[in-house]
Amino acid sequence: MESAFNKKISAQLEFSAKNAYPGECCGILIGMRSKNGEIEITEARDLPNQIPDAKKNAHFLTDPLLLYQVEKELDERGLEILGVYHSHPDCKAILSKEDLENMVPGLLYVILSVTKDGIADIKCYRKNLV
Ligand SMILES: [Zn+2]
Repeated sequence: MESAFNKKISAQLEFSAKNAYPGECCGILIGMRSKNGEIEITEARDLPNQIPDAKKNAHFLTDPLLLYQVEKELDERGLEILGVYHSHPDCKAILSKEDLENMVPGLLYVILSVTKDGIADIKCYRKNLV
């Protein structure tokens, strides 16, 4: 787990993943970036999963208008979106082909593997800026 996360944030992510099970949760990681490039996550926020129920555990998609509103709000507060998270119900916490294709360089990607017994694994990925 990335050191940028505190216990409160990881507990919140775990709660979301368990709560959405057997569906997939998704959300954004909010915080600030210091001048030396270090990041600090101060907030995790669930976003509604826009994929119809039947496909819910296949992947997630978020409403662009909602994202726009969130970015605007964060901008006013001096914060930014630093990463995203989603759960893989009954799947390993590894990036799927789709996840890899949709990765934005520099953003953190947290994947939570969740089963009926609870959280199995949490992994954090980042695609380097080129
Ligand atoms: Zn995924």
